[in-house]
Amino acid sequence: MKNVRSELMSNPKTITGYAAGAFAAPTGEAIPVIDPATGTTVAVLHESDGAEVGAAVAAARDAFRAGPWAGASVADRQRALHAIHDAILEHAEELAALETLNTGIPFIQTKNIHLPRAAQNFRFFAEFINQDGGEVFTQEPGYMSLVTYEPIGVCALIGPWNMPLGLTAMKMAGALAFGNTCVVKPSEITPLTLARLFEIMDAKGILPPGVINLVNGRGHVTGEALSAHPDIDMVSFTGGTETGARILGALAKGIKGGAMELGGKSPSIVFADADIERALDGAMLGSFMNNGQMCLAGSRLFVHEQVADEFIAAFTTRTKALRVGDPFDPATEIGPMINAAQMARVASYVESGLGQGATLLAGGGQIEGDGFFIEPTVMQSNSNALAICQEEIFAPFATIQTFSDEDEVIARANDSAFGLVGYVWTADLERALRLSRRLATGTVLVNTPIMRDLRTGFGGVRQSGLGREGAKGSRAMFTEMKSTIIAL
Ligand code: NAD
Repeated sequence: MKNVRSELMSNPKTITGYAAGAFAAPTGEAIPVIDPATGTTVAVLHESDGAEVGAAVAAARDAFRAGPWAGASVADRQRALHAIHDAILEHAEELAALETLNTGIPFIQTKNIHLPRAAQNFRFFAEFINQDGGEVFTQEPGYMSLVTYEPIGVCALIGPWNMPLGLTAMKMAGALAFGNTCVVKPSEITPLTLARLFEIMDAKGILPPGVINLVNGRGHVTGEALSAHPDIDMVSFTGGTETGARILGALAKGIKGGAMELGGKSPSIVFADADIERALDGAMLGSFMNNGQMCLAGSRLFVHEQVADEFIAAFTTRTKALRVGDPFDPATEIGPMINAAQMARVASYVESGLGQGATLLAGGGQIEGDGFFIEPTVMQSNSNALAICQEEIFAPFATIQTFSDEDEVIARANDSAFGLVGYVWTADLERALRLSRRLATGTVLVNTPIMRDLRTGFGGVRQSGLGREGAKGSRAMFTEMKSTIIAL
């Protein structure tokens, strides 16, 4: 593998937007893109202003209305989606390295988990559209009623920094599969991987010009210009809850819809009958994978008091043993935080937890050096009301509470503004099913950590979002349901 870090440190990449099949000139405001492990600039992003966003939306509109994508057959769309799948795998090593360089996620995770997942999204939706169809109702004598799913039009796809390629790949695959055109806006903090993917798709000529476009820049400039643009038809957004609310506000003015994948503070409940080793493995992954910067992190742990001593001691020991360091080192389990602000935020939560009576079991400190490294942290709390148990910290930071009763723990687990995932660790199938009904979350995972199945829908309730991603959820997001009723 080439050393992308040293290559880009000595010659930072220039990142611009892409519209109607051509990359923009690097004229927009220059924003440095930082390697969080070293604090050095590895790319310069040229921000897309309102005019550039307008050009990207116009290109997507033209391609939707009159261009070849609007009339593409299922086979044509499948061919394009498979070609993107293959292109990602062909460049997997390079894309994984860029993802690690820009996010600080350990390379073993980007290479072995994120890249295959990103590619798989395209293959999945290529296969899904082959089987998917509408509905026909013939119960009413003299009538036949048809339900068809039409592409919605121009989709704005806005992504976060914590899993830039994988999360946006899912949006791109779904939007394209159902016949839409799109404008993609990655986080200004992590634009590297998608910029490279656009170069690869462009070089291979996979999609007709205008079908997929890219804009880059900060939320209050490029993001707002895109989500408030009168000629987009919807926004599929993944990011923070406050940003989601702002985007919904902009969409409301045009009576448009948005799919919102927002924040989480997911409970992970370990019952006394659980396989404790398995629950420990799962809780470690759920709290610390992706440097803990995961919307679906199951980092609000509830442990039954019968197994609490054993579980908490083992969890604390394992957390202290996690290897923090250079994300390119294969031995590294935790890389850097995304930036200095995120690192400072973690410190403020440690302070807030201590101030509110929580006990620090592991970590809590920053690690000296050029990058944004912190010690993986565990705090034990006697109350779910503490800020560390209520607010999304988005870091390798787990909280542990103990419980004695099922009803009581369900009430505490549901005592949250969020509702993304509920994790349950138990050997009792009836209990698992009861909890699946009673946890107020979009997904319940039983005896398994961070599992996603594209056939199911992923998304949150309450402030964790609106809509579901995956199979039919993505169809609902990216199509308009049309009814045609025919008198016979
Ligand atoms: P963020 O909300 O700050 O930014 C996300 C994206 O929105 C970025 O591209 C940003 O430039 C853009 N943006 C910001 N302001 C905007 C505006 N006014 N209009 C339009 N776009 C705007 O989020 P982040 O910090 O990049 O990501 C972390 C958050 O994402 C966490 O809260 C996390 O839980 C959430 N997230 C959710 C999921 C999920 O599937 N539910 C997955 C990953 C991350």
